[in-house]
Amino acid sequence: MRFVIIGTGGAGVSGVEAIREHDQESEIIMISKEDVPPYSACLLCHYILEEDERDTIFWKGKDFFDQMNITPILGKEVKSIQPENKKVLVDSESVDYDKLLIAAGGYVDVPPIKKLDKNGVFTFKTLSNTDNIYNWVKTQKIENAVVLGAGFIGLDAAEGLKKKNINVTIVEALDRILPRMLDKEMGNMAKEILGKNDINLFLENNITEILGKKKVKGVKLTDGTVLDADIVIIATGVKPNLEFLRDSGIRTNSGVIVNEYLETNVPNIYAAGDVAESTNISTENRESILLWSNALVQGTVAGYNMVGKKTKYEGSAIQTLIKVFGIPIISDGVYEGEELKFFEDSIYKKMYLKNSTINGYMLINTMQNAGVYHSLMISKREVSKYKKFILTNKFNIGKIIMEAALVS
Ligand SMILES: Cc1cc2nc3c(=O)[nH]c(=O)nc-3n(C[C@H](O)[C@H](O)[C@H](O)COP(=O)(O)OP(=O)(O)OC[C@H]3O[C@@H](n4cnc5c(N)ncnc54)[C@H](O)[C@@H]3O)c2cc1C
Repeated sequence: MRFVIIGTGGAGVSGVEAIREHDQESEIIMISKEDVPPYSACLLCHYILEEDERDTIFWKGKDFFDQMNITPILGKEVKSIQPENKKVLVDSESVDYDKLLIAAGGYVDVPPIKKLDKNGVFTFKTLSNTDNIYNWVKTQKIENAVVLGAGFIGLDAAEGLKKKNINVTIVEALDRILPRMLDKEMGNMAKEILGKNDINLFLENNITEILGKKKVKGVKLTDGTVLDADIVIIATGVKPNLEFLRDSGIRTNSGVIVNEYLETNVPNIYAAGDVAESTNISTENRESILLWSNALVQGTVAGYNMVGKKTKYEGSAIQTLIKVFGIPIISDGVYEGEELKFFEDSIYKKMYLKNSTINGYMLINTMQNAGVYHSLMISKREVSKYKKFILTNKFNIGKIIMEAALVS
């Protein structure tokens, strides 16, 4: 039996670990267009800060392929898949598979910007992007940086650059920061963190043109503002890598379409992580949910199914925890229904109740009860009787469970 995995990100790695849990003998080939051992993209921001941090991003160790007895094919791109011959075409060679996992992640969807090809303009998605950013900052005199996009990738880039004493401005097309995590009010609260750390922010704006001769010197925004910039980072949305699947017969929508066992419509081909579409457990909609924790769980479930251990994927949580300049921000669920709020001393909590259960919540500058809210939400527990204090420090889940036990 030969397992072939396209991608060495979180989904590919957890897929391989799940396979090896049950099968130490079969051949496994991992293919990546990046020529490096597996790394965690979530840790790239630390490496913008310090060269010493580069090694820490290899979260499974640089010898992962040896540890797992894997044949890596690195620095080579899968161009297409031929299910009828059970072959993957990698640059000019072809690789046969018995079972195939597509864990190819996503790419940065760069909006149309004039004169984008100047030196000093980077995307921030991969380790090689980060190497380029690191080297540019090290070798150039950088005073001003502009980051396009205020999602968690943009904020990560901004934080990394600010900590290098660079003036940083973030430009965001929507009306708030972290638009996929926060509503407008909470986005405004989170903005305080950027203000306190001297990050400039332009909302409802876009970069239309990069200025400078060969090297970036500035950017022009939609509203006509011109900003100085010695480096520009494009951190706009990520979209699944589907291009190489175009003639394969594998069905795609916003991502690769999979069933509850993470099988595609083509026998012996599975998909996991950012490249796959999955069910949002809060809304039950099928969508691309591009989060690290989901990539890991999906990789594991796909791996088990590939070795014949039938395992269902129950759907993707959209609980997201990030830290911006050390301040935790957590978001989860859907922001519709009866609104509850608790704002005190730079701690902001907001929750939505629907049919007496938690529909969604956001927390800024606290992680208190995040796990409890999440489990109450996904188990659809009735919480309306606690609504007066569910967001306060008086909410004590231990006491509530004890009381419930005494009553029953
Ligand atoms: C800077 C940054 C910060 C982030 N922070 C967070 C965070 O705080 N919380 C969070 O939940 N998520 C975060 N994410 C998102 C998270 O990293 C992703 O959801 C996760 O990495 C997805 O894993 P994956 O294995 O599906 O894809 P990826 O990690 O993108 O891996 C895809 C793999 O496929 C390979 N590949 C792609 N196409 C081909 C091809 N044609 N041929 C060969 N190989 C190919 C790539 O080389 C790569 O090895 C962050 C992402 C970035 C970039």
